[in-house]
Amino acid sequence: TKHLKHPDRFIQIGSEARANTTALPELFSVFNPSSGELLAELPDMTVEDVSAAVARAYAAQERWAGLTARERSDILWRWHQSIVDNSDDLAAILTAEMGKPLAEAKSEVLHAADYLQWYAEEANRIYGETISAPSNDRRMLVIKQPIGVVGAITPWNFPASMVARKISPALAAGCTVILKPAEQTPLVAGAIFALAQRAGFPDGVLNLVYASDGDVIGRELCSNPDVRKISFTGSTEVGRLLMRQCSDQIKRISFELGGNAPFIVFDDADIDAAVEGAIQAKFRNAGQTCVSANRLYVQSSVYAEFGEKFTERVRKLKVGDGFDTDVSVGPLIDEQALAKVERHVEDAVQRGAKIRCGGRRTGSNGTFFEPTVITGVCSTMRLAQEETFGPLAPIIRFDDPDQVVREVNDTIYGLAAYFYAANLKRIWRVAEALEYGMIGINTGRMSSEAAPFGGIKQSGIGREGSRHGLEDYLEMKYLCMGGL
Ligand code: ADP
Repeated sequence: TKHLKHPDRFIQIGSEARANTTALPELFSVFNPSSGELLAELPDMTVEDVSAAVARAYAAQERWAGLTARERSDILWRWHQSIVDNSDDLAAILTAEMGKPLAEAKSEVLHAADYLQWYAEEANRIYGETISAPSNDRRMLVIKQPIGVVGAITPWNFPASMVARKISPALAAGCTVILKPAEQTPLVAGAIFALAQRAGFPDGVLNLVYASDGDVIGRELCSNPDVRKISFTGSTEVGRLLMRQCSDQIKRISFELGGNAPFIVFDDADIDAAVEGAIQAKFRNAGQTCVSANRLYVQSSVYAEFGEKFTERVRKLKVGDGFDTDVSVGPLIDEQALAKVERHVEDAVQRGAKIRCGGRRTGSNGTFFEPTVITGVCSTMRLAQEETFGPLAPIIRFDDPDQVVREVNDTIYGLAAYFYAANLKRIWRVAEALEYGMIGINTGRMSSEAAPFGGIKQSGIGREGSRHGLEDYLEMKYLCMGGL
């Protein structure tokens, strides 16, 4: 991870997206969270740059939508293949700017490629319908057409797969795209876009913009009438703001927002499997995923066994620089993220909870936090109410299986929930009663390009992945043919 001041490749992508201006751009910096080292400086784009990108996307829209599905599919396939071919380099860039262990970064890059593959295939499966008309002199049909220009805003926690998951269905549907990656992690997005250029997307179909302040870009994307849809993954707070900004023009939206995922272990569960699932659901990406288990509920009769085995397993997790082999937990993204985990630990301990392992920041450089288990937790503590987004596992004991479902549903969020149980009747009842968009049953990991990812309540609107993800980029048009 050498110092890449003004890396030609990225400046080139940046300058292409910039408006015609002779003024030198302001720069913003990208750092490695494991070492604090400066990785790159990128042009800080202005409103004019964003509106120029929208104009290019708008100009390209008709031609892109006019290609055959097979032609769009072929380009997506080539892009998919080049991401697979370059996955080692992409993973190294991702680990450098975001911190996650290299093996996780590699699997994320391949998962990004999975989305491109899925939507390269799905591009060919856009169907309309014919409807039996109430009178014989007319015929009624529904056709599907691309929504138009899409503004996509992605977060730093999955800087490669979020980009692919968002823009591949849009492209498959025939929409052109302006992407704004998170300011902490624009480099892997830049590299993925460089590969897209080689795959043969026509000019203007894909546009990359970035800025140190997301608000500058967000306002332009939401207020420019040529942008027809905003697709956003990030915090519920920013989601609320974007929804308000989109309301003036009734723009289409797809939002994937925050969560507060419960992970419930019932007394009939396979405890060893539940421990493994909880490690996956809690510590993958250092707990920085919107589907990370935020609070573990364990039934009284298996509480002691689960607590011991889980804590034992957490003690073995190695924290450190993602480039070191055998590291399984990387740094948190920044100081602010670290401070939030500390606040959650402090609040719980002050209110009587017990730290079983971890509990502190660690390492001399970087923003590392020890993998932490806390017991004696109750649902009213901050760590059970708010999304911690860090390697902190609070365990809550429960007795009544009906009561626990009511308790975990008592939140504004509704993204992911997990539970472990064996009894078939219980599995169905609990799965149906949980007010969440995605339920992991006897698994700690469920994200897949083949499945609809998304939340209910204040966790979002719309779905990404699967055939449903494609529908979110299509408008339906009803054709009524009379006088027949
Ligand atoms: P996180 O807490 O994960 O950083 P954010 O919602 O702040 O979540 O960020 C997710 C994405 O939204 C990033 O790309 C960020 O730059 C962008 N963003 C943040 N604030 C705004 C805003 N006011 N308008 C548009 N985009 C924003």
